[in-house]
Amino acid sequence: MMNTFKVDETNLIEEFDAQFEHQFGFLKKKFESRRIHCYPANSGEDVQDIINQFIFNREYIKEISFSDSVTLYQLGIFDYIRNKYGESHSINEPLERSDSGHYKVYGVNPKGRMNLPFEEWKKKHELWYDNVRKSLLSDLLIIGANAITLNGEIVSVDGLGNRVSGMIFGPRHVICVVGKNKIVTNLESAVDRVHNIAAPLNYIRHAKKHYTKHEVLPCVKTGKCLKCSNPESACMNTVVVRGQIHHHADRIHLIVVNQNLGF
Ligand code: SF4
Repeated sequence: MMNTFKVDETNLIEEFDAQFEHQFGFLKKKFESRRIHCYPANSGEDVQDIINQFIFNREYIKEISFSDSVTLYQLGIFDYIRNKYGESHSINEPLERSDSGHYKVYGVNPKGRMNLPFEEWKKKHELWYDNVRKSLLSDLLIIGANAITLNGEIVSVDGLGNRVSGMIFGPRHVICVVGKNKIVTNLESAVDRVHNIAAPLNYIRHAKKHYTKHEVLPCVKTGKCLKCSNPESACMNTVVVRGQIHHHADRIHLIVVNQNLGF
């Protein structure tokens, strides 16, 4: 009898899923031994369910804040939280963008540089900055990260510093969402990944979508980090979180998604 069974060598879903399962199990043990809770997710809906349950179990959460994150955009988390909790909670999304790509607080502007009278710009800018500062005292801060290591470290590089400072202290709780592409072996590979992959791509994103001047940066021009100190560089604060003290045992919750997200 002819055997009609044929292995599909191009379908690697099972292999990738098995690798994710193994890596996640390893990460969970590492992170949870240092009081960072770890959850696996397959989709945006899974992430939303985890966040809902998290908020449901903590009635005192009244203010929810965000930092900027391509991962959160891709999973639809900004829209979801706004729609679900907008009436019952205070949502502080200081880095939210208007349709023109400028920060929402400035309104919709012509493409490119804003053309607001200085006094108006200054007022809006102060409001924007105040909102960023307020996010550091929220009940729940939802963020992404640049890398997580198999040694159990969350690694992020930040220019303004709102994301990394909120990760360390301030918000009562932090939910950090990362795709599996952010998993690296150690700190060295994490920093390499940030400077040679994530940072240049993020600068190109800001230049193309938000009219910034990041194209002048050496990593954008050459595709490789040249360890610059350009004033446009956001590579100013590198933070490694490897655990939480016992007092913060319920503070950072890490969701690892079985998808490639952000960069
Ligand atoms: S340090 Fe400078 S060259 Fe390196 S990634 Fe950052 S901005 Fe680019």
